Amino acid sequence: MMTQYLALKREAGDCLLFYRMGDFFELFFDDAKTAAAILDIALTSRGEHQGEPIPMCGVPVHSAEGYLARLIKGGCRVAIAEQIESPEEAKKRGGSKALVARDIVRFVTAGTLTEEALLEPRRANVLAAVCDVRGTCGVAACDISTGRMELEECDPGQLSAVLARLGASEVVCPEEWEAAPDGAIARPRHDFASDEGEARLKAVHGVATLDGFGDFSRPMLAAAGGLVAYLDHAGRGTLPLLLPPVARDGGSTLAMDEATRNSLEILESSTGGRAGSLLAAVDRCVTGAGARQLAEDLAAPLTGRAKIEQRLTLVQWFHADPLLRADLRGVLRALPDIGRALGRVVAGRGSPRDLGQLRDGLGEARRIHDVLQSRGERPALLDAILPSLAGHGALTDLLSRALVPTPPTERQNGGFIAEGYDHALDELRQVSGNARRAIAALEAKYRDETGIAALKIRHNGVLGYFIEVPSRHADALMTSDSGFTHRQTMAGAVRFNSLSLHEEAGRIAEAGGHALAAEEGHFEELVGEVVGRSREIASTAAALARIDVAAGQAERAAEGGWTLPEIVEDRSLDIVGGRHPVVEAALAKAGERFVANDCTLSPEDRLWLIGGPNMGGKSTFLRQNALIVLLAQAGGYVPAERARIGLVDRLFSRVGASDNLARGRSTFMVEMVETAAILAQASEDSFVILDEVGRGTSTYDGLALAWAVVEAVHERNRCRCLFATHYHELSRLAETCDALSLHHVRAREWKGDLVLLHELAEGPADRSYGLAVAKLAGVPKEVVARAKAVLDRLEKGRAQTGGLAAGLGDLPLFAAAAVHEEDQIDILRERLHGLDIDALTPREALDLLYELKREA
Ligand code: ADP
Repeated sequence: MMTQYLALKREAGDCLLFYRMGDFFELFFDDAKTAAAILDIALTSRGEHQGEPIPMCGVPVHSAEGYLARLIKGGCRVAIAEQIESPEEAKKRGGSKALVARDIVRFVTAGTLTEEALLEPRRANVLAAVCDVRGTCGVAACDISTGRMELEECDPGQLSAVLARLGASEVVCPEEWEAAPDGAIARPRHDFASDEGEARLKAVHGVATLDGFGDFSRPMLAAAGGLVAYLDHAGRGTLPLLLPPVARDGGSTLAMDEATRNSLEILESSTGGRAGSLLAAVDRCVTGAGARQLAEDLAAPLTGRAKIEQRLTLVQWFHADPLLRADLRGVLRALPDIGRALGRVVAGRGSPRDLGQLRDGLGEARRIHDVLQSRGERPALLDAILPSLAGHGALTDLLSRALVPTPPTERQNGGFIAEGYDHALDELRQVSGNARRAIAALEAKYRDETGIAALKIRHNGVLGYFIEVPSRHADALMTSDSGFTHRQTMAGAVRFNSLSLHEEAGRIAEAGGHALAAEEGHFEELVGEVVGRSREIASTAAALARIDVAAGQAERAAEGGWTLPEIVEDRSLDIVGGRHPVVEAALAKAGERFVANDCTLSPEDRLWLIGGPNMGGKSTFLRQNALIVLLAQAGGYVPAERARIGLVDRLFSRVGASDNLARGRSTFMVEMVETAAILAQASEDSFVILDEVGRGTSTYDGLALAWAVVEAVHERNRCRCLFATHYHELSRLAETCDALSLHHVRAREWKGDLVLLHELAEGPADRSYGLAVAKLAGVPKEVVARAKAVLDRLEKGRAQTGGLAAGLGDLPLFAAAAVHEEDQIDILRERLHGLDIDALTPREALDLLYELKREA
């Protein structure tokens, strides 16, 4: 057995091996230790291996799903080794001591789940494959619970941003790849060949060319190859549902890197959960599929005006008709998750209940279709998706005729095919029904004949049917002419068989076996019908999700008094009465009111420098404007009185000195790396919020950096930007930067206490309220008094020397400050030194030459 085990374990690699032994999955050696620790179950031992006891633990097969879920959550992958023959077969094959043959039937990993119990209903589960083809990264992503698959390519520098958008639960990449993302699973390099990938996709979809699905580059196909190969490996040859791939054009979505996503807390709050995130504050979807679609919309807002407006018009339509919205949401709420039911059925893990869900869901989709169809004046997006809600008539009819109203989750015991669907099956059921009645009649007859009122005919799994009488009556039946044969003597009872009972029981068993086989056959047929229509069913699921999102957005807007944003193609941002949806909700819970603020940026006034006391509301203001842009471009209403959004191509959010220590970088280093990314990437169409840049270092360094960053953003990037800072000295930039203006959050001292108004006003902050905030925060009076004394001394010094920013008034502007010629030569030399010419494509070499010439 150990030999067999070790061979399977070698195949399982770094996955835990679930080794089936009868009614248990057993784990051995280190696997056992890992699993016992995560599952908090007893670690025992069994036998010896090389003189040491073998650690072991096990979980019952019937409750394995729950344990699997916890192991997967704990970051494990599991290989399931099943017995692939019965003990009888093994004996026939190799004698009485033969070992039952076992094989790994499936790998269970975070990215390849389809089971309802292992998935979160409101969250997509993404598996991604990434690789590199001649300097361009290919990314393939799919959610096998619903079959969606997307291919894209990006620069290596953008890979982490793409992965952050996807939020994949599992990533695979070629082995020995130096750019492998953290935690990615290494797979054989040859899986990631573009011609292989193309061939695999063609085979999956049974097409001679992929042209009908879109235009796919080599890197995309290579990644797709790696993805399909991994799925094939994980399913041991059974592929899950895969819909035709969609090529994603990077430029069609609002670019946001990982730091921006984290700092805006889009899908998860900084503490890690959904609570406190933008998604949680916006989500009013009534279906899991809707919630998943909304999460995707928010993770990848659009940049094309036409598409955004299509979504907005649909939301507006539902917003304008509260009755329709309420009715529709009522119907949607009861809808089963047909996308995921389909995923299970296609992956060969479907149950009769899944078929029942498809029957019910597709039937409801048809009714929703009819209701919406009867409305005049439908928005274009609705017209486009409406046809996908219908067209399943034949399939739903079939499923309705074939299945009982609530089919079971297990199919081994049958009982899911409805009466009247198959006459032969009905007859078999009648035979066993008759036999059951005959057995009931036998019981009455035997009682009469023997005069034993306590006589019973019973059934159990070991003996089948038997006659049972209390011990004191047993003797009368023990005689050879009684017609009863003894089977078993229990503590208080004795059990018998009889010829008639044996015959009837035989009829039940035989008819039952045939009935089960017939039901199994029907199940396979029905699955075949569903699989044949999987693409159409998937598009029904997608259409329902889109409708749920739009109706949910309308509901949210109505609830919060949100407004329909106007989308324009210029570099303005005009938000009146804007609010932060998450902070507002938190304040509302505490019975406090959120103070709405305006933000009006334009090419002439595109950089706002925002000062004012700590806790005054600067960060909140910065973020609320970024979130409003994001919500609008995702196609939803926004928390404001009025909003006019000039389309944004990239959104950046940086918060100074955040707690990124977990990654092993100093906070200041992180801040500078992130700032560098903005300066390198923000375009004139971008929107940037920078919060307290420079806070992570000494005052002089910090001020100097903040100063230079503001200048660079103003002169070079020329993007729209909100910059919050506590450096007063920066206000002097208003003298030289013409598209920069000064603002502050207002505060007032009242009876010696600080009152924060959370209200934005024009002009520089008049003073720092640091000491007042310290007092507000409960710093002891003596300490505050001492700080006041120190401050007075410092301010006196400042008055004499001109202060921290003395001499900055006549500093030439960033762009005007010519870099010294020698410095330029040094920079050039360094660049040439660092060049790996062999790694350049001719095209890149040419681009580089152009670039050098431009800079010269
Ligand atoms: P700062 O960045 O200036 O230190 P924050 O934006 O972090 O300040 O705001 C501090 C707290 O003030 C928030 O947690 C919130 O409770 C409250 N606050 C911020 N903005 C507003 C607002 N517009 N209306 C009401 N309360 C606000």
